[in-house]
Amino acid sequence: MAGEPQSDCLFCKIVAGEIPATVVRKSARTLAFRDINPQAPTHVLVIPHAHYPNAAALAAAEPAIAGELLAEAGEVAREEGLTDYRLIFNTGAGAGQTVFHAHVHLLGGTKLHEGLV
Ligand code: AMP
Ligand code: ZN
Repeated sequence: MAGEPQSDCLFCKIVAGEIPATVVRKSARTLAFRDINPQAPTHVLVIPHAHYPNAAALAAAEPAIAGELLAEAGEVAREEGLTDYRLIFNTGAGAGQTVFHAHVHLLGGTKLHEGLV
């Protein structure tokens, strides 16, 4: 069923507490934790508890949770003292997506590359 945990999904396992993560913020429907391979001084992933393969699928099925992901990312940025930051949703392997559970990358704490690719 849409949104149900997937036994082979790394981020579902983090939500379930089966794999440890450095959690920085949680809500009833989202979880924010530090990326294991940070690309900037602040690199946090914000994910829905529910499993959807990417952000667009999440937004189509659960628009309120998709909005909450953005609001939570903004709260993490505020807590990290960031006014300037970047949010990235990689979608598809060709765009660099490696974990097929919707997530937004929050990157900040350094001068970010000005181009998009
Ligand atoms: P993406 O490439 O957009 O699918 O992003 C997946 C991100 O998950 C990558 O930046 C990885 O470094 C990160 N990642 C993979 N495994 C873990 C983990 N166990 N804990 C935290 N972040 C992870
Ligand atoms: Zn999942």
